[in-house]
Amino acid sequence: MSTRGRSPALGFADVLLSGPAPDGGLYVPEQTPPLPPLPGPGPADASAGLYRELAARVMAPFMAGAVTADRLAAMVGEAYDAFDEPDVCKLTALDDDHHLLELYHGPTGAFKDVALQLVGRLFDHELGARDRQAVIVGATSGDTGSAAMEAVRDRDRIDIVMLHPHGRTSEIQRRQMTTLDAPNVWAVAIDGTFDDCQDLVKAMFADEALRAEANLAAVNSINWARVMAQVVYYVWAWARLGGQRAPTFCVPTGNFGNVYAGHVARRMGLPTDRLIAASNANDIISRFIETGELAAEPVAATLSPSMDIQISSNLERLLFELFDGDGAATAELVSQFRRRGRAALDPDRHRRLTSALDGDRLGDSETLEAMRRVWESSGVLVDPHTAVGVGVAERRRRPGELVVTLATAHPAKFPDAVAAATGVVPEPPPALAGLADRPERCVRLPNDLAAVAELVRSVSRQ
Ligand SMILES: *Cc1c(COP(=O)(O)O)cnc(C)c1O
Repeated sequence: MSTRGRSPALGFADVLLSGPAPDGGLYVPEQTPPLPPLPGPGPADASAGLYRELAARVMAPFMAGAVTADRLAAMVGEAYDAFDEPDVCKLTALDDDHHLLELYHGPTGAFKDVALQLVGRLFDHELGARDRQAVIVGATSGDTGSAAMEAVRDRDRIDIVMLHPHGRTSEIQRRQMTTLDAPNVWAVAIDGTFDDCQDLVKAMFADEALRAEANLAAVNSINWARVMAQVVYYVWAWARLGGQRAPTFCVPTGNFGNVYAGHVARRMGLPTDRLIAASNANDIISRFIETGELAAEPVAATLSPSMDIQISSNLERLLFELFDGDGAATAELVSQFRRRGRAALDPDRHRRLTSALDGDRLGDSETLEAMRRVWESSGVLVDPHTAVGVGVAERRRRPGELVVTLATAHPAKFPDAVAAATGVVPEPPPALAGLADRPERCVRLPNDLAAVAELVRSVSRQ
């Protein structure tokens, strides 16, 4: 159902294939299922198949009726074959009670692979069931583009057209998109800014004829299936740590999708002490937790660009809960915020927010500091996004608390910041090695709707 309460409820498969609800809200499940019985600490815990097994069990209740258990297990298996850790993710101890949950062992070195590798397959499966083709269109300023392209490469029923602002992404980020050798992926450099790219995508979705002709689809972070797939690694981390203690999770936060998945895991019954949202200088979430007021500020460029966001879309899902499922009240708060740049919770709801979530922020110099400290004390290299999480976790942890900080990108994706902080240039994982030598393939287009729509029509196999 929609967080604004004015669109009909849809089944899982329809939610998967649609973007936001027609009333502008985001889809959430009508009920949060409890966690299914989990394999306790024991032989299963030591097996490399734990992640895949948990994934199939944790996600199944959300998909009942849409995907059979066998098909889901098969898709989970395929999705995670391309990861360079046998059990998909990895826990690395920084000290006895502080662990990194490394989510970056997928094909593009960012945590977004964990959800998108599965969602790409779910898309293909559902399009197959309907005998349709689709063109996924999106705009990216960084990691999402390559993770989405990598997730649908070589899929039978999907083509993907990903716009990025020409000359405004990092060299690694651009190469990750332009060197991808698959017949159904199109990296497009637009002569304009990231906002221009986003406006082009919105305009394409608003063009009913194009939308129908090419069967346009989106895989951005408001897609419920991505949140669902992210719940799994919270459960996995808890199980891998012995399943006895309730950990605190500290999550580097941008669009609020990742930390919201942790919240869903807790609502499903995962033993969790605290959830901490870690922000960079773009700290709207931590200010919201402190004051109960959402107040937008201009976006500042930081060392952790994937968190340079002021309007965190997924927050609407948490607001909907704070308003006890009242879509009209949620819509009112969100529209007030969009109109005036500010909106406040009443004291009671603010109290409920602070019991669900803790938050703090780290500036760029503190981020470099955190990277250096982790390197010196534990011999571990972390990227600037992860460093924001680690620094916040260190500052907020209480004596005796078990803390898990989510590591969201491989350090080799941000070699300049890592080298500046530690003096060490991180070794690229197999997925990123050789990027500089691969041929680039990219379409360059003016900031012009007709030109982009023409490309989308030409790649559509519908
Ligand atoms: C996308 C991203 C984030 C932010 O995650 P959200 O789910 O948007 O809060 C943090 N770190 C990295 C490396 C990312 O790519």
